[in-house]
Amino acid sequence: MVETTQPSALAKCDRCAVQLRVAESRREDSRPFRKAAVPKGLCPDCVMTEFLYNTYPVNMIIDERGPEMLLNAESMRMALLSSGVMDPAHCEMDVNEINWRRVVDNWNLPVKLSKSGRNPYRMGDAKKRLPHAAEMFPDEDTARKECVAELLTMLHPDDPVSADEIDIPDDFGPIHRKRKPQ
Ligand SMILES: [Zn+2]
Repeated sequence: MVETTQPSALAKCDRCAVQLRVAESRREDSRPFRKAAVPKGLCPDCVMTEFLYNTYPVNMIIDERGPEMLLNAESMRMALLSSGVMDPAHCEMDVNEINWRRVVDNWNLPVKLSKSGRNPYRMGDAKKRLPHAAEMFPDEDTARKECVAELLTMLHPDDPVSADEIDIPDDFGPIHRKRKPQ
């Protein structure tokens, strides 16, 4: 933990203008999200939005199905934790800080797009060429499994996971990948 230079200073989110305060301290090694040291930056909701816009193929999936799919906060929480993206071991931003309703309501505000060559997709490319999620996936579990499987595959491209391999328990316990038959 390192003290920030202007603790408690008031700030506004650069994207949605919600009022924020600079934290008292932060972890310098926190990734992929880190608290700001100065009164400048994004709120947790906009940080998550920017991440989703710039992360392939999650961005394509959201674009095809509509950002409302994010309102299943529990499955988003599980996907972010089970994929390791927001593992508290290395990320100081708590997945429970994210207000998914705000993420969706502010979805169309401008987002900084990273120029990384690893993201071939730009929001809007889908142009609604696929039917809405509700028609494609009458079974919500299928959509959740696909979302988790695609996130896991994105993080470990050498070990692709299919939705059939994902087990989602009814009691919101941890998501498991089924063991492959030997
Ligand atoms: Zn914001």
